[in-house]
Amino acid sequence: MSLRILVCVKQVPDPEQFDRITLDPDTGSINRGGIPPVTNPADRHAVEEALRIREILGGSVTVLTMGPPQARKCLEDALAMGADRGVLLCDMAFAGADTLATAAVLAAGIRSAGEFDLVLCGNESVDGATGQVPAQLAETLGWPRVTHVRKIEVKAEENRALVEREIEGGFLRVDVTLPVVIAVVKRINRYRLPTIFGILEAGKKEIVEVGCATCENCGLAAGAMGLGGSPTRVVGVFQAPRKRRVEMIGGEPRDAARALVQKLREMGAL
Ligand SMILES: Cc1cc2nc3c(=O)[nH]c(=O)nc-3n(C[C@H](O)[C@H](O)[C@H](O)COP(=O)(O)OP(=O)(O)OC[C@H]3O[C@@H](n4cnc5c(N)ncnc54)[C@H](O)[C@@H]3O)c2cc1C
Repeated sequence: MSLRILVCVKQVPDPEQFDRITLDPDTGSINRGGIPPVTNPADRHAVEEALRIREILGGSVTVLTMGPPQARKCLEDALAMGADRGVLLCDMAFAGADTLATAAVLAAGIRSAGEFDLVLCGNESVDGATGQVPAQLAETLGWPRVTHVRKIEVKAEENRALVEREIEGGFLRVDVTLPVVIAVVKRINRYRLPTIFGILEAGKKEIVEVGCATCENCGLAAGAMGLGGSPTRVVGVFQAPRKRRVEMIGGEPRDAARALVQKLREMGAL
């Protein structure tokens, strides 16, 4: 049996440039202006895991994202890694979604994209960072879910997967039936970088764009998506005060090293 795998990928601001993010205390919104978007790091590992499973069992890997038109880029990146096709859930009606409304639209998008045996997610995004979407997605689909997963072995013929789930101080072995939503941690694998050939091939692969007008049978009420379908309200945002100071220690290397050790001792760091 070959496996139909779908991977949820989210576009996020480049974590390397998070120090450029500012908060607007009046509107409660996050100003990400000018920060280049990238694929959420954990989601790259989820794509890698899907490709690894496909290499063993055969089947297909679909990547799906909900986001603005420019989120297409993270689908293209996943296609260049080797995924087979992409689905972009893009509509103004999805804007302003909290995790519940995000999960509702992702579930509707997954249903309209076809039948799947396995849905992989990153365990957590680096921007919203709630880690709630995979669980809410599974609940909405009516599927089981396993989060914090560091190892997956799919027993396709037996319609189940054996997974290792990290917990504090150890791990759990979980035996779960398919279809299932699994959220993976970054330690699960090292993801491959796209090759030139992969990038060229990605241009020939299909990305389907789905909005409300093209997804009439998804069964999702207008009030269940976007800001209107989001029970979470941000009541305040605060910029953590930074208390960094820099002191340059000059002089000859030997003297500078002595002075540094002395200072670290005084601070109780040594
Ligand atoms: C306090 C707060 C306020 C927010 N306010 C706004 C707002 O005003 N407007 C706004 O637009 N957004 C807002 N967001 C962002 C939005 O709610 C989240 O980006 C979205 O719901 C996903 O939540 P998360 O990033 O915590 O995902 P997590 O649960 O941490 O993500 C886990 C995994 O779920 C999958 N996933 C998550 N989101 C997507 C997606 N969009 N497409 C595909 N896969 C996905 C990925 O595999 C990801 O690795 C806010 C978030 C928070 C925490």
